[in-house]
Amino acid sequence: MLRVTGAPSGCSLEPRGRLSRRDVIGAGQRSAERRLAWRDNLRRLRILVLLLVFLVIAVTAWQDRSRSTSWRLPLFVALYPIAADDSPRTRAFIAGLSGERFTDIDRFFAREAHRHGVELAEPLKTRLKPPLDSIPPARSGVGRVATLGWSLSLRWWAWQRTRAAREPADIRVFVMYHDPAGAGTLPHSTGLSKGLIGLVHAFAREDLDGDNAVVIAHEILHTLGATDKYDPGDDAPRFPDGFGDPHQSPLYPQQLAELMGGRRMLSPTRWEQPASLAEVVIGDVSALEIRWSGHAP
Ligand SMILES: [Zn+2]
Repeated sequence: MLRVTGAPSGCSLEPRGRLSRRDVIGAGQRSAERRLAWRDNLRRLRILVLLLVFLVIAVTAWQDRSRSTSWRLPLFVALYPIAADDSPRTRAFIAGLSGERFTDIDRFFAREAHRHGVELAEPLKTRLKPPLDSIPPARSGVGRVATLGWSLSLRWWAWQRTRAAREPADIRVFVMYHDPAGAGTLPHSTGLSKGLIGLVHAFAREDLDGDNAVVIAHEILHTLGATDKYDPGDDAPRFPDGFGDPHQSPLYPQQLAELMGGRRMLSPTRWEQPASLAEVVIGDVSALEIRWSGHAP
């Protein structure tokens, strides 16, 4: 009888074709390592995609800023009316809109550009577009991440609604009209330099066209990089850059309002919203922000 000499009792030999305990442990470890490596690669890929998205956003923003403030060619501003409520009055108001109702904005920019030394005869041209039946996505949450997410969703929404436009626009302003009978206070309007998009809340009343034009012009200037020049706590224009003429003597009442100051100072404690762009100027600091100052003689 053949006996394997030296083999310990309780033989450790096992049939061929079956994995040893060491082999099983080794295979399990390799599988776990592969899973970890795959997860690691996936995480790196996600970071890479995010970095690419941020890079595209940054490059696009730089291109937008550079193009929109070169002042070599007119900027075309597409105005898209939107009914913000179901009121028949709002719908009728929008149906009655015409491009001529917005030409004060074009004239205002021409006048102020020339005052700041820009030679372009028509620095900005508004074009009224057909109404949209979709409301822009609402901002939700606070903080940088929420703002970035909202900004991206807004740009996607805007691209979907305007991509078929025959005349491409440099700036797109979505004007949401509200029936004055149903809206006491309007939501804040917004202008985004990233994407060159303005969101304006306006009253659907013809005698308020002047007020609405001031808000539209204010948001257009935001898209070009200008900042607010009023106290967000009480809306009071800041001195000196939010005043129409900080050198005026006597200082009050101010004859004019600065566009990004938003209001005309009547006294140190009173201010009012201008009724039209005839009462508004673009001050030196705002002009500097939209790169008009380099054109001054
Ligand atoms: Zn503002």
